[in-house]
Amino acid sequence: MYPRVILNGKLIKKSQQKKITSPENYRERLFVLDTKELKYSDCRPGRKDVLKGSVELWKIKCVETVDTDFPIPCNNKYPFQIFYENYYLYIFAPDNNTRLQWVKALKEETQYNQCVPTYHPNMWREGKWRCCKQTAKLAVGCAKYDPVTLACSKPVPPVPNPKRKQTRTDAREVIAIQDFTPVEEGDLQIQKEQKYILLDDSDVDRWLVQDSEGNAGLVPSTYVAGKFETNFDRFEWYDDDIGSEEATQLLSKEAKEGAFMVRRSSKAGQYSVSVYASALGSIAENKPNVRHYLIRQKSKSEAPFYVAEKKSFFTIPELVHYHQHNCAGMVTRLKQPVSRPRSSSRRPSIAPIDLEVQWQMDPLELTLEGKLGDGQFGLVMGGTWRDKKVAVKMIKEGAMSEAEFKEEAKVMMKLSHCKLVQLYGVCTQRSPMCMVFEFMEQGALLDYLRARRGNLSQDTLLEMCLDVCEGMNYLDCSNYLHRDLAARNCLVSHDNVVKVADFGMARFVLDNDYTSSQGAKFPIRWSAPEVIRYSKYTSKSDVWSFGVLMWEVYSEGLLPYEKQKNMHVVNSVNKGQRLSQPTLAPDDVHVLMNWCWKEKPEDRPTFGQLLHQLGCLTNV
Ligand code: ADP
Repeated sequence: MYPRVILNGKLIKKSQQKKITSPENYRERLFVLDTKELKYSDCRPGRKDVLKGSVELWKIKCVETVDTDFPIPCNNKYPFQIFYENYYLYIFAPDNNTRLQWVKALKEETQYNQCVPTYHPNMWREGKWRCCKQTAKLAVGCAKYDPVTLACSKPVPPVPNPKRKQTRTDAREVIAIQDFTPVEEGDLQIQKEQKYILLDDSDVDRWLVQDSEGNAGLVPSTYVAGKFETNFDRFEWYDDDIGSEEATQLLSKEAKEGAFMVRRSSKAGQYSVSVYASALGSIAENKPNVRHYLIRQKSKSEAPFYVAEKKSFFTIPELVHYHQHNCAGMVTRLKQPVSRPRSSSRRPSIAPIDLEVQWQMDPLELTLEGKLGDGQFGLVMGGTWRDKKVAVKMIKEGAMSEAEFKEEAKVMMKLSHCKLVQLYGVCTQRSPMCMVFEFMEQGALLDYLRARRGNLSQDTLLEMCLDVCEGMNYLDCSNYLHRDLAARNCLVSHDNVVKVADFGMARFVLDNDYTSSQGAKFPIRWSAPEVIRYSKYTSKSDVWSFGVLMWEVYSEGLLPYEKQKNMHVVNSVNKGQRLSQPTLAPDDVHVLMNWCWKEKPEDRPTFGQLLHQLGCLTNV
């Protein structure tokens, strides 16, 4: 099949000066971008086009506009840059629209490459970077690179739709309940607990919000909430007008552990959570299995809402979201939202229809063979799908919040990298639902390390860390968090390549023992202090876990902090103690581990920096 042409046009290319002695020149070239490469040719009237060069798209690590603060010595005044291998290609467009069109198209084609975490916004000229004055051409960039959004076009609010009017007279503040990563053009990235201005809430499912830098975009309405909000209709768990008796009946009829709803309380202006728990009832005493909790409010508090005194929240949906993952003083975790039937227009439907189509695998195409293992979500089976060997996770009922997972599926599908275990698709039409992954012949890294104890060379150990770091750097560049990085969650291929698995899946686990930081299965030994203290997950908490994974690799699969109990681990980490240097770890590697375990997240390295440092160690 021939590659499809995406864009073509005449632009000016600056000579690349790969050799110090080559002269600087600016030549008009015909550029053609197709799905495989970017080609440029010399095209003069009356002559045949002569191909002058090409860049394969998979090699591109950064595409961005260039800020200039000097006179541009050619007719086209709008430069952009392409960084590939170790070269910078500067191209000049005749106007800003053309430039943005090219940068956008190139970014779309390369956003899932192994991109750089940072780049240089200005040009390399006369022996130094004009942005940061560094004198090494390959010096690390001085601005964060976003592989998806154009640097100069961030504040592009979606085109106002006359039908989408603001329903409130004044702009309102909303707070993000959870992180949201853009799925479509026009979406805005939001971060848990950050504040945003609500610009338009006329669509029940998708709200238009603006961040503190002026960027506007759409987010699922259930990801944000206002502090003084009184209407929670968009949430599945809300029933505006139901009394405690009727709620008890409804939940008892459902009779599922953790079935719950939020409703207006009989106390004016207040809300209650009603929840079903089998432990509550007693038929003999005719006690119902439903408990009602009043959502209390502290006066004069930034985060006023609480049901259990210890933990309070900015908004009611945030409180519900937290208790969906933690019991924290309630009789059970809130598991299944229940409400009376209502008109379909009130229900949000974040998952686009085409998601099902793209994601659904035909169960008839899937053959299951032997058992590979047992995991948090259930059995893992070997199998075949379209002549490919695959691993199939059979999701046991009640183990995963399936609706939330399906929302995320589209994003996960797009993550594709040679150091990540690829998710091929899901089969949700049959029960149990299953997820189909790339097959990794040599199983989990932790088992692999333990089985080869005493036989692993220094090169192999370093290579393993590098593999994981590459996968994690890709996730980080894609603004995606792992949340449970550990040797048990990496897998080894037939040719000994280590790949990162289970990224992001921790969010869908429905098991208190795993989700609550007090739970027996919570990965305390791999978790950064801020995760244990207030569930603050960032790329820097993934970096902390990566440090622990390096420790696991160099200790050939020992349990971090060995015999210490979880509580002692937390105490000693809080006191500043860290894992000791494994015998096999060279000093340089131990230095990197300790860098990952800095108390303050901002003092820890990025995955890009780690990749660079680990890469340097391979040459020693
Ligand atoms: P869960 O995510 O449900 O906790 P795991 O990912 O821990 O499940 O998988 C359990 C076991 O199944 C692993 O330890 C490994 O042995 C096996 N396994 C999981 N995924 C694969 C895969 N893609 N290829 C081969 N074996 C796998």
